[in-house]
Amino acid sequence: MSRVVVVGAGPGGLACAVELAEAGSGSVMLVDEGTALGGQIWRRDVAAPKAPEPAARKTQWIARAEAQIKARRLDYRARHVAVDGRADPLSLDLQPLRAGGSPERVHADALVLACGARERFLPFAGWTRPGVFGVGGLQALVKQGLPVAGKRVVLAGSGPLLLAVAADLRARGAELVALAEQTPRRAMIGLGAAAVGQRSKRVQAAELAARLVGVPRLWSSWPVEALGADARPDSPATALVVTDERGRERRLEADYFGCGFGLIPELRLAQALGCLRSPEPKSLDAGLRVDADQATSVPGVYA
Ligand SMILES: Cc1cc2nc3c(=O)[nH]c(=O)nc-3n(C[C@H](O)[C@H](O)[C@H](O)COP(=O)(O)OP(=O)(O)OC[C@H]3O[C@@H](n4cnc5c(N)ncnc54)[C@H](O)[C@@H]3O)c2cc1C
Repeated sequence: MSRVVVVGAGPGGLACAVELAEAGSGSVMLVDEGTALGGQIWRRDVAAPKAPEPAARKTQWIARAEAQIKARRLDYRARHVAVDGRADPLSLDLQPLRAGGSPERVHADALVLACGARERFLPFAGWTRPGVFGVGGLQALVKQGLPVAGKRVVLAGSGPLLLAVAADLRARGAELVALAEQTPRRAMIGLGAAAVGQRSKRVQAAELAARLVGVPRLWSSWPVEALGADARPDSPATALVVTDERGRERRLEADYFGCGFGLIPELRLAQALGCLRSPEPKSLDAGLRVDADQATSVPGVYA
C-alpha cells in the first residue's frame, strides 16, 4: 500500500489530505506543527468568526478531515515539526513538540509540501522588545485571545496583510494610532489604478478603505527604532520611531506594534529535500519550480 505524507494542515494541505483519504487508495499522514487543523488563515479564532462564507468553507474541510481521522483513514500528527527530509529514500524526520518527545523518521512514496508562507520581518533598533510583533503574528495572538479592545496599536511596513490586520484589530476595538506604510503614496495610487479592471479586488479595496476611515496614514515610512520604557533592551516597547514622507522622524506611542513587510514562501523543508526554486532564484519571493501536476524537481515530492 502506498503512503503519502502531507506537511501542512492549512487550506492547501488539508484539502489534499482529505481528498487522498476519501479516495482511499493508500495510507495518508498529515503533519502540522500547530495544535489544530486550519493553518494560518483558518486559525481557530476564540472570538466569533466574522466572515460567514470563508468560515463555512473552513468548517466543511475541517469536518471532512475530522471524519477521516475518526475513521482512521487519515493519520493526523498535530504538534509535529518536519525538521528535515531526504530525497533518497524519500523520508522526513518528525519532531514532536512535547517534553521528552522522540524524533521519528517516516518513509513515504510521495510527499506533499503545503507549508504556506511566513512573514518577512526587517530588523530595526529595538525590534526584539516585548510589544513588537510581526503584523501577522500579532493577528494570530489576537485570534488566540490576546485582548486588544482599548489598546493603542501602530502597524508599520507594507503589503496587503497590513491593511487586513488593521481592519480586523479595529473591528475588535483596538485604537489604530497610525498605519505607517513603506509604500510611497503615488505607488499606492498606481496599484489602485491597476486594480480598476479587477472587480473583486476593487470591492475588497473599497471595503478595507471604508473600515479604515479616520486611521492616520503615513506614506514612504520606515520603522527606525522601537523605544522602551527604559534603556534595558528587554523593557517593553512604548513608542515606535518611524520616518515620514519628508524623511522626518515621528514618534508614535502605543501599547502594541505590528511590523511586517509582506509574506515569503516557507521553503525550508523543500530546500532540505533539494527541490529547485522557480526561475527567479534571487528573489526572496520566488516559490518552488513545479510542473503542471505540481511535481517539484525531486521525484515523489509535490508542492
Ligand atoms: C502570519 C500570517 C498571517 C496571515 N494572515 C492572513 C489573513 O489574515 N488573510 C489571508 O487571506 N491570508 C493570510 N495569510 C496568508 C496565508 O498564508 C494564506 O491565506 C493561507 O493560510 C494559505 O494556506 P496554505 O494552506 O497554503 O498555508 P497555511 O495556512 O500557512 O498552512 C501551512 C501549515 O504548514 C505548517 N508547517 C509549515 N512548515 C511545517 C513543517 N516543517 N512541519 C510541520 N508543519 C509545518 C504550518 O504550521 C501551517 O499550519 C497569513 C500568512 C501568515 C504567515
